[in-house]
Amino acid sequence: MPGTLYLVATPIGNLQDMTFRAVEVLRSVDVIAAEDTRHTQKLLNYFRIFTRQVSFHEHNEKERAEQLADKLVLGASIAVVSDAGTPGISDPGHYLVKRAIEVGAKVVPIPGAVAFVSAAIASGLDTKEIHYAGFLPAKKGERRKRLEEVSDIPATLVLYEAPHRIAKSLADCAEILGDRPACVARELTKLHEEIARGSLSELAERFSAEKTKGEIVLVVAGSDGRHSALSSQPSGASLPARVTQLESEGLDHKAALKKAAKEFGLSKSEAYRQLLNC
Ligand code: SAM
Repeated sequence: MPGTLYLVATPIGNLQDMTFRAVEVLRSVDVIAAEDTRHTQKLLNYFRIFTRQVSFHEHNEKERAEQLADKLVLGASIAVVSDAGTPGISDPGHYLVKRAIEVGAKVVPIPGAVAFVSAAIASGLDTKEIHYAGFLPAKKGERRKRLEEVSDIPATLVLYEAPHRIAKSLADCAEILGDRPACVARELTKLHEEIARGSLSELAERFSAEKTKGEIVLVVAGSDGRHSALSSQPSGASLPARVTQLESEGLDHKAALKKAAKEFGLSKSEAYRQLLNC
């Protein structure tokens, strides 16, 4: 009989957020696959867990997943943990889950902390529908393109961001998404936890004025239709001019044409025809 793969959430800053079940599972499995074994050892020491660890991180994920899948076939029980929060959420885990399913192992989630959920529920923004978009790209052009892609989504947007990029990302968000209500949740569950709320431009100004440290989740109100690029489009702008503008903001030609077509209420083929005829 194939074994069991446990996906075990660990705290995102406060050890008291470890669940009883997580401790029990980590004590009982044959091996713990950890993103950073030295980091996880501190957690294991605190909870007096003596299970053996193997490393499992983004650089050895596929190769290690094959070895772990072989163990599952032989009936082993394996727990996956990341440095903080829930494995598989902007952390390794997904590929191993896929392999575990393929070899017929049981997959058991052990729920607990996940940074974006804590940020979303404390933000004060609508939680009926949430769009988790992971990390924004570090490069400006790619970041702006990604923001264009999510700009029309009506669900509350939740993003992970590095502290040294938060001011720039907030400014890009304000420009591309419109000046929506937002929240910067910093150092959640830790001593210096901070939940800053305001419009994107207010938050951009505030976070550009100080050197930001710590871990950050950015929560942004979803599109209400009023902030689509259409409303920021200069009146009288032609379709070709708008395509050029979108390209200069980082979209590739295809994406720029698609977006401009949507804004002008045209089909893609009609927009393409107009572009060729200009
Ligand atoms: N697997 C994790 C989870 O379940 O949330 C996320 C891992 S991802 C590599 C790390 C990012 O999560 C950080 O850069 C930050 O954006 C966010 N994060 C993690 N802990 C946080 C905390 N205590 N406060 C705010 N954001 C946090």
